[in-house]
Amino acid sequence: MSFIVGIDGPAGSGKGTVTKRVANKLGLINIDTGITYRCVALEVLKQGIQLDDTNKIIEIAKNIKIKIDNTPNGDIVFLDDINVTQDIRSKEVTKIVSQVSSIKEVRFLMVDMQRKLAEGKNVIMEGRDICTYVFPNADVKIYLDASIEERAKRRFKENQEKNIDMTYEEVYENIKKRDENDKSKEIGALKVAEDSIVVDTTNLTIDEVVEKIIDIIRIKRK
Ligand code: C5P
Repeated sequence: MSFIVGIDGPAGSGKGTVTKRVANKLGLINIDTGITYRCVALEVLKQGIQLDDTNKIIEIAKNIKIKIDNTPNGDIVFLDDINVTQDIRSKEVTKIVSQVSSIKEVRFLMVDMQRKLAEGKNVIMEGRDICTYVFPNADVKIYLDASIEERAKRRFKENQEKNIDMTYEEVYENIKKRDENDKSKEIGALKVAEDSIVVDTTNLTIDEVVEKIIDIIRIKRK
């Protein structure tokens, strides 16, 4: 029997940082589902495939070999045995990933992979559609949110730390576009599940959000 905590929310809502910390504190395996879509997007760029060439993108998703190593310093991601941890966060991948992940067949294949990654384990899984589509029966369902200005500010700072060259305006526009696209997907759209607990992180520190989530999980786990 596995125990599943689903965390959904838009880009910059704090999912990544918070989920990793909660996973460490509670001994849960952390699965960042955005990685799977980012790997497909990276391969699309590497192979020089046009975004309207849906069939070729689906072929990539069918054959892709992704390995994610959870380490105390973050996830190390391998795509066909090559370390792509940094490449999947590039500006170019970030620009096209939402469009790539809108392809229905790509979603079916990635969701299948995500469900397999969680099989029989106690996990905290973050994404956009975890509580609505990937695991609608998750034991704990949380939706993290924050104002778009705050999310852009956080992502801009994070990018600077990782040497990703994007201006604040570029980050803001990218997040705005991704929000719109992610919310209007035919399958797996970003939305609050009926029974999710919404946590607005705009005015909370990371520690406060982590504490809040741990409290929610502890109550449900009893
Ligand atoms: O979470 P992250 O920003 O890495 O996700 C990258 C993109 O992958 C999102 O903007 C979204 O389009 C897509 N995604 C998704 N469903 C998920 C996780 C990510 O569609 N469960």
